[in-house]
Amino acid sequence: MKALSVLVLILMWFSACAPQQAEPASPHWTYEGEEGPSHWGELNESYATCSVGKSQSPIDVANPSAQDLTNISFHYQPSEVNILNNGHTVQVNYDSGSYVELDDTRYDVVQFHYHAPGEHTIGDESFPAELHIVHRSAEGNLAVVGILLQEGTENAAYQPFISNLPVEKTDAKDAGVTINAMDLLPSMQTTFRYSGSLTTPPCTEGVNWLLMTTPVELSAQQLTALDSLFEHGNNRPVQPKNDRTLMEDNTP
Ligand SMILES: [Zn+2]
Repeated sequence: MKALSVLVLILMWFSACAPQQAEPASPHWTYEGEEGPSHWGELNESYATCSVGKSQSPIDVANPSAQDLTNISFHYQPSEVNILNNGHTVQVNYDSGSYVELDDTRYDVVQFHYHAPGEHTIGDESFPAELHIVHRSAEGNLAVVGILLQEGTENAAYQPFISNLPVEKTDAKDAGVTINAMDLLPSMQTTFRYSGSLTTPPCTEGVNWLLMTTPVELSAQQLTALDSLFEHGNNRPVQPKNDRTLMEDNTP
């Protein structure tokens, strides 16, 4: 009995130390040409939802039904700016401990990143850029807070992010500054809400979208810094809304 246990332990040790098969790299995709948004669904089986999904994002926000929804409660704390350029966007991996509460579920902030031009449109009006704060619940459900960015006065709260944008593809590095996601939000925190998807492959659905109704201003210079990083832009065009419900929380 004892010898058998020892043998099992040895076998476990060997399998733990055996070289792991390398994870297949996610298939390449881009924002233009042959591997651009209209082809994402064909590039790989795991991307099929991008073309066959019926609840895709982004969408044009039109005729939302105004309702007095339960407010989102924000519990954001400052984070180190752990920043990376993954070739598709620049992302800040957010320190743990920040979250939103939405209908009694806690969604923890995982990261934020941007798209330029913006992805969601409001009554066909497009915006120069859009910030996405990505949250995940303990059950693995996603909630994304979207912030439309428009040209106006310089916004100091965004500067720790904008002044540290890595131009080339990089691993995450600590920029040595902090940022508070609370200060990235507009002062009025009402949102459009609908069920959508990731806006990048694999376009996974079931994402709770919380798009701020009020845009946030950045200076022309700040917007140029975001816009100049990806030659062909990094926004997915709007997708069919189909029969989804689009709500607007009209009570702050
Ligand atoms: Zn995004």
